[in-house]
Amino acid sequence: MGKVYLVGAGPGAPDLLTLRAAEILKRAELVFHDALVHPQTLELAVHARKILVGKRSGRHSTAQSFINKRLVDAARKHAVVVRLKGGDPMLFGRAQEEIDGLRKAGIDFEIVPGVTAATAAAAELGVSLTRRGIARHVVFVTPRAAEGERENDWAASVLAADTAVIYMGAGLAEELGAELIGRGKSPTTPIALVEGATLPEKRAFHGTLADLSKLARKAGDGPAVVLVGEVLRAALAEPVLAEKIESILKRA
Ligand code: SAH
Repeated sequence: MGKVYLVGAGPGAPDLLTLRAAEILKRAELVFHDALVHPQTLELAVHARKILVGKRSGRHSTAQSFINKRLVDAARKHAVVVRLKGGDPMLFGRAQEEIDGLRKAGIDFEIVPGVTAATAAAAELGVSLTRRGIARHVVFVTPRAAEGERENDWAASVLAADTAVIYMGAGLAEELGAELIGRGKSPTTPIALVEGATLPEKRAFHGTLADLSKLARKAGDGPAVVLVGEVLRAALAEPVLAEKIESILKRA
């Protein structure tokens, strides 16, 4: 019986991979990977057969139950099987379904974390998701529900949070903006849209919540997160405002 490693490939740039992930990829016999994984990351798996199973939101993808079954079958034939996922495997990656399948089949597994899109985007912007006196509460949400999935009030979380990072939301920008403003979020709330964080083609757009669909139209069709919250205000305005925030903080 082999072992299955659920490995985070990071947000894009191939050198944003943990040493542990690189070492496991070197030993891998089989790698099941998402579409967003960088080709250079896959090259690290020198001995492995590579199988694309992953998806880009909105496009057709291998059924999850089939992936779960393939992982179990693979571990019965191979010593080192890798399930390589974009970002961190434990966020919006359906890892739990794979873990449950492996547990049920009695297959040994291990999770290797990766850098998630939210923190990669914050790094690109040079804006901390938390900030003393302004943001002590960060949420990661997605408005996108799989077919048949329980409805869930993602907007309530964004309304309550100091900072929100919205995954898989750029394609729904118009609805997102309308929903949040309709539920009472100020249209002047600062936002940023970061596309392709850590990749050479990365782009970042700043604006307010009222501009969300406009910003999304400017972006391409690369993976993108939308950040919402006061921490982005300084980036929105002139440096003068950043200084003002600093002095308010000093007084507080
Ligand atoms: N497990 C991944 C998220 C998978 S869902 C993680 O931890 O990052 C896929 C979504 O992640 C995309 O729709 C987009 O919202 C976001 N994403 C992934 N890579 C990104 C990147 N390089 N820049 C911006 N957003 C990214």
